Amino acid sequence: MVSTSLSPLPVDVSRIRSPIQELQPQLVAWRRQLHQRPELGFRELLTAEFVSQKLTEWGIEHQTGIAQTGIVATISGRQPGRVLAIRADMDALPIQEENDVPYRSLHDGQMHACGHDGHVAIALGTAYYLSQHRQNFAGTVKIVFQPAEEGPGGAKPMVEAGVLTNPDVEAIIGLHLWNNLPLGTVGVRSGALMAAVESFRCTIFGQGGHGAMPHQTIDSIVVGSQIVNALQAIVARNVDPLESAVVSVGEFHAGTALNVIADTAKLSGTVRYFNPNLAGYFARRIEQIVAGICQSHGASYELNYWHLYPPVINDPQIAELVRSVASDVIETPVGVVPECQTMGGEDMSFFLEAVPGCYFFLGSANPSKNLAYPHHHPRFDFDETALSMGVEIFARCVEKFCH
Ligand SMILES: [Zn+2]
Ligand SMILES: [Zn+2]
Repeated sequence: MVSTSLSPLPVDVSRIRSPIQELQPQLVAWRRQLHQRPELGFRELLTAEFVSQKLTEWGIEHQTGIAQTGIVATISGRQPGRVLAIRADMDALPIQEENDVPYRSLHDGQMHACGHDGHVAIALGTAYYLSQHRQNFAGTVKIVFQPAEEGPGGAKPMVEAGVLTNPDVEAIIGLHLWNNLPLGTVGVRSGALMAAVESFRCTIFGQGGHGAMPHQTIDSIVVGSQIVNALQAIVARNVDPLESAVVSVGEFHAGTALNVIADTAKLSGTVRYFNPNLAGYFARRIEQIVAGICQSHGASYELNYWHLYPPVINDPQIAELVRSVASDVIETPVGVVPECQTMGGEDMSFFLEAVPGCYFFLGSANPSKNLAYPHHHPRFDFDETALSMGVEIFARCVEKFCH
């Protein structure tokens, strides 16, 4: 289901759009500079320095070193009023870039393969625009540059460090450049947008022996295989079929030779779901299955379980704000994709647990320019035209929310 946005644009569009369009070459330049120097989570030193330098240059008050490398900029409008936060993540991935572009990564084995370089450029552009147009809003905007989204997670320590207080943030918005959607679209919905992320590691201890004499052994591969199969029944048979959930085993390591029964097997996997009421359910159910199958074979086990990120849940009112602004900004017939959802996860969820808000996807794929590789691919890149669209959506959200 898609809505169209062919209605006439509001009169004030060019007032906001023209100065932002003028920023586009700068946005591209900043994004490419950041792209050349990707840094992994909590090591975003050059990135933070880049951000801080720009903010200082523009006279924007900001605090550095929050949750190690995070930054919060504060921009006040013409008079006190509502407080809106905008969040951008800054970290890159441990991937060797395979793109042959002039702005290719200079850091071996590290790459902005998720588009966070673009997120920083958009947030900087928004900061600049707002600082130059303070008369257009009443209230305060906090721009949160967050470390380590890809792991281990910088949002939670930033919330704990108090970035949403003093002054108290009333709502937060954020975006992800999204190659799963074409350029000229925005994916937004109220309620769950992205899934909770949990993971587990399990070691099964059996008893090794000769492949021809299984009766003298406890075969950890047979036990592990039954566990992998049984785990699939959690989603298929235990979770309400109207809910969405995933249990995927991504690793299974066991054995050293074809005629030797392996005494240990290690498997690990990831769990995803949207409904916050399911928090805790998968951890319990997985342990029951592992324990039951191990016990029935005389094997023992060690199980570790991690609750990484809660689901990304958008507030209906703030989602409506983003949706209405996006449909003014995006002029393509497809426009706003209202029921966009993914089982991917994001630690934006920690901000959204603390205050109402909306996270949304900004379409950035352009197959005609060969810019459609998926996120986290060594050839990932996006259509930079999306950068000024991102700034315009943020700027218009501020002007509408802080009026
Ligand atoms: Zn990513
Ligand atoms: Zn990302």
